[in-house]
Amino acid sequence: MTTKLMTAAVLNKPLDMEMKQVPIPVPKADEALIKVYCIGVCGSDVHYYEHGRIGRYVVEQPIILGHELAGEVVEIGSAVQNVTVGDRVAVEPGVTCGRCEYCKSGRYNLCPDVVFMATPPVDGAWAEYVTVRSDFLFKLPEGISYEQGALLEPLSVGIHAMNRAKVTPADRLLVTGLGPIGLLAIQAAKMYGVSEIYATDIVPFRQELAKEMGVTAVINPMEVNVKDAIQELTAGRGVTVVVESSGNGRAIGDAIKAVKRGGRVVLVGMPAADEIPVEINTIIDSELNVYGLFRYANTYPGAIAALTSGSVDIQKVITHKYSLNDTKAAVEMARTQKDTSIKVMIYPGQ
Ligand SMILES: [Zn+2]
Ligand SMILES: [Zn+2]
Repeated sequence: MTTKLMTAAVLNKPLDMEMKQVPIPVPKADEALIKVYCIGVCGSDVHYYEHGRIGRYVVEQPIILGHELAGEVVEIGSAVQNVTVGDRVAVEPGVTCGRCEYCKSGRYNLCPDVVFMATPPVDGAWAEYVTVRSDFLFKLPEGISYEQGALLEPLSVGIHAMNRAKVTPADRLLVTGLGPIGLLAIQAAKMYGVSEIYATDIVPFRQELAKEMGVTAVINPMEVNVKDAIQELTAGRGVTVVVESSGNGRAIGDAIKAVKRGGRVVLVGMPAADEIPVEINTIIDSELNVYGLFRYANTYPGAIAALTSGSVDIQKVITHKYSLNDTKAAVEMARTQKDTSIKVMIYPGQ
């Protein structure tokens, strides 16, 4: 039997990526083979491409990156029942053990045994095909595009932020940082019925996009004091929730200062430094709830339902499109053009 080959973008070492012919993976009994139609470039992919590591995860052997994807089921293992050949699906890229205390309690994003795509040494899906355990596949209803399906992954981070802070329509929200995660957190907030949403960023292009996506007002933190600006914009009522997505040390400090007493702050962006100075006394005497956030859990079904109802518009974050053979150019775009690109998409299926 001859092994069938496919094209994949393989990162040999930092900045050294090449298109290679590699074996098409064969699905195990509980897996499906997915023909990848659309897959995003994530900040973490760019980081591995540039630096070869994120914290304790190090690229030690050639790896295929990419984990934000949707595609078509083209083959299923013998035990698969929830999807069938021809189904259009979104892929949740972290396969968890299902047995540990975290998995059992529903917080499976904290599973210590998770196998997450494009996290060394696990391959991702900047390739023509990928195998996925079938319970991490979610059927896309008619009318939901592969692009929307791929965006469910970064959107899920925003949804998880809403869940962490138990956001309701009564909340007034500030999102700091308008990269893909910040912009999609804004869409997640709209899914949760929030109507008063403020945002901060220093890049004009991103500020404009946030306005198009329906934020109430955008603040430039280089020009004004964020807390003062929020007080003015809300006629002194303040914001009840801050979602910090930039990872910028000053923005994290501002988030603590800007939220109203009794408010909630969700820290999504990861700062480069391990320690960031914040006003601890403000957290204490304002009784703030500060939440960490790691990926997401149980977000895909609700997100698909929200997309089907048409209440959110997530595709606006896609600014650039590339074919699979141009994966390196796609990553370079995301790496070097941060002022003009938000979500860069690769289309292996076309
Ligand atoms: Zn991602
Ligand atoms: Zn587990």
